Amino acid sequence: MKTIAITGGASGIGAAIKQRLLDLGHRVIVVDLNDADIEADLSTDAGRQLAAAGIREAAKDGLDGLIPCAGLAGHMPDLQLITQVNYFGSVRLVEALRDLLAAKRGCVVLLSSNSAPMDTNLDFVEALLADSADGIGTALESMEGQTVYSGTKQALARWMRHHTPGYAADGIRLNAIAPGYTETPMTAAVANDPTYGDAIKAFVASIPIGRPGAPADMADAVEFLISDKASFICGSVLFIDGGHDAMLRPDQF
Ligand code: NAD
Repeated sequence: MKTIAITGGASGIGAAIKQRLLDLGHRVIVVDLNDADIEADLSTDAGRQLAAAGIREAAKDGLDGLIPCAGLAGHMPDLQLITQVNYFGSVRLVEALRDLLAAKRGCVVLLSSNSAPMDTNLDFVEALLADSADGIGTALESMEGQTVYSGTKQALARWMRHHTPGYAADGIRLNAIAPGYTETPMTAAVANDPTYGDAIKAFVASIPIGRPGAPADMADAVEFLISDKASFICGSVLFIDGGHDAMLRPDQF
């Protein structure tokens, strides 16, 4: 039995991963705004500290896994909020719990997205990686929700790759999954959004394998990545998107 903490475990992909881990007999500590073992707002420093302290209290011997899954879609009007939840809500928690992960030679699976390599503002991504509040603020002035979303997801994948060697030296495996369009409460909200709805429907219709993703598809991948069978997989971004990324970027991997 492993002890695994997950954020965003109250809904969608996070809820499916939580249930899968419970079905496998693992102990799961859920952080979310509501319906969670630890109710904390990951958009603020105080909320992230509350979450880290709660996990620390619940997993005194260490963590076998951490899955920062909480996130907000690009149709949200508050661009700082998307930034704070998606990027800092994930990265800061990993940093805060590094010693607990090292104690069990644990692993982290970050939630990137197959939108990560798509159109975004690279100054924004660089500012996130540099932790530059001024740079982030300046970049956000000329951005809209979808590029903020993809920028946070690109920054998560790149943060993971930048830190893979250092964490691996502590025995911690960092990886990310990059889901494609997956049917959850988040995507239902975006599909019904007056600005993005039509584009989203066309995007879904172009998925090569002919169907949208299901939360269980993501749980399947996380089940493998946190297992001992993935003990040599470290620093990978796994696209789980029915072939969309291969279709859009055939020469990059
Ligand atoms: P969802 O909206 O169903 O679930 C997101 C969860 O995050 C919710 O339980 C919500 O309460 C929680 N959350 C939001 N803000 C929070 C905050 N400030 N503090 C704490 N918790 C907060 O979304 P989902 O579709 O299941 O997405 C889960 C993750 O997968 C997200 O990071 C998302 O970006 C990523 N993702 C989703 C898709 C998709 O198509 N659904 C594709 C790629 C990546």
